[in-house]
Amino acid sequence: MKYYDKLIFELSKEGRCGYSLPESPWEESTVSIPSGLRRTDRPRLPYVSEVDVVRHYTNLSNMNFGVDTGFYPLGSCTMKYNPKINEEIAGMAAFHGIHPLQPRSTVQGVMKLYSDLSAALSAITGMAAFTLNPFAGAHGELTGLMIMRRYHMCRGDMKRTRVIVPDSAHGTNPASAAVCGLEVVQVKSLPDGTIDVEHLKSLLDDTVAGIMMTNPNTLGLFETRIEEIADLVHGCGGLLYYDGANMNPLLGVARPGDMGFDIMHLNLHKTFSTPHGGGGPGAGPVGVAQRLKPCLPLPRIDGEEPEENAGRVSGFMGNFGVLLKAYAYILMLGKQNIRLAGPLATLNANYIKESLKDCYRLPIQTVCKHEFVFDGLADQSTGVTTLDVAKRLLDYGFHAPTVYFPLLFHQSIMIEPTETESKETLDSFIEVMRMIAQEAAADPDMVRSAPHNTPVRRPDETEAARHPVIKFFD
Ligand SMILES: *Cc1c(COP(=O)(O)O)cnc(C)c1O
Repeated sequence: MKYYDKLIFELSKEGRCGYSLPESPWEESTVSIPSGLRRTDRPRLPYVSEVDVVRHYTNLSNMNFGVDTGFYPLGSCTMKYNPKINEEIAGMAAFHGIHPLQPRSTVQGVMKLYSDLSAALSAITGMAAFTLNPFAGAHGELTGLMIMRRYHMCRGDMKRTRVIVPDSAHGTNPASAAVCGLEVVQVKSLPDGTIDVEHLKSLLDDTVAGIMMTNPNTLGLFETRIEEIADLVHGCGGLLYYDGANMNPLLGVARPGDMGFDIMHLNLHKTFSTPHGGGGPGAGPVGVAQRLKPCLPLPRIDGEEPEENAGRVSGFMGNFGVLLKAYAYILMLGKQNIRLAGPLATLNANYIKESLKDCYRLPIQTVCKHEFVFDGLADQSTGVTTLDVAKRLLDYGFHAPTVYFPLLFHQSIMIEPTETESKETLDSFIEVMRMIAQEAAADPDMVRSAPHNTPVRRPDETEAARHPVIKFFD
């Protein structure tokens, strides 16, 4: 154990101190906390010097992994590089010094930015208008479904309480529908990974509020029958919701609005390069087709409050700092370069897929879009599972791909390289994945006990999830 692996409380030495404050900065009479509520005992804080604190946090940060540290092929999450110019712009005093309660007349520049960003997102997706208010993808889903429900209600169409969700869907889709008070109905996938249109037909009637889909779907496969699906769902009076988490490969290639989708969200922290992870702020703007515009939630950029509005989904108008970073990204790339993102993400995914399909089982052989799914190692006789491969990757300095999702296969490994990685990075990942396949055959126990050289070894994941120990003292 290195000395800095010690917890900060273990470094504590009574009397040591890293700050100096005046003895009693306030007159007793000016302290407004009632005496009964004031603490009398000292808080249990460590006694450490400034240098101890700085080293403690710096060393902790070095144990972390992020997209600025290394390759992060987490499927479905689109962990692309976050250009630093976004941060620089979000850090400008004129932006971070404003307050959401300021009168609109004093933040006209921000309103212009909101309006321009909405217009850019509408142009990219083929939607008529956007609300920027939701704070995450899942929050966008809920907002979109509230809009869907409101639309049917305003038309007096009260029977529509069922939402169709494919069996390959991200867990947030059925969860959002349930939170919105709608009933979830599952539509099956065909062996080729796309929606079973015949099964869909059997589910459609006048109780269907709509269908939630993502295209390309969670297997990274384009739903080629999307126009037919749109006609069928619209034909029975339902709406189409697009989960925009998979928008990345479509950038500059195709638009959900043109495919027949009526409502969609975008994950700005996926497609538009704003940082995510660690519970940090996100943004899930929701776009709608023209006839659903009155149902957008409040407050609205145009200041209007139509009677059909779906209510409020947030106190103010979204996570401004995140929206600003996405806006900077879109402007920095411009129309020409944003068109390259999707095709390059697709090329990178297919390059990895083709380079590894002899060592890992590829259940669906077709050309993928921005991501694809392996079903474990080609050689299943070693007992080495997808979880073991994911853990072993950490030893080589790569973040693990998404594992055990989608649920269609038992050993899913979902890889999404994004467009921001160089061929050299992809090649070293491929080399390591091949090496792990060899290790699994030669020394399965070593792979099954990985990781061996990370700060934290393999935790008991169930125990860690059920009984996390998150503080030093009981
Ligand atoms: C990430 C993701 C979501 C949820 O988005 P959050 O911003 O994490 O709430 C929904 N659907 C799919 C397919 C996703 O990949």
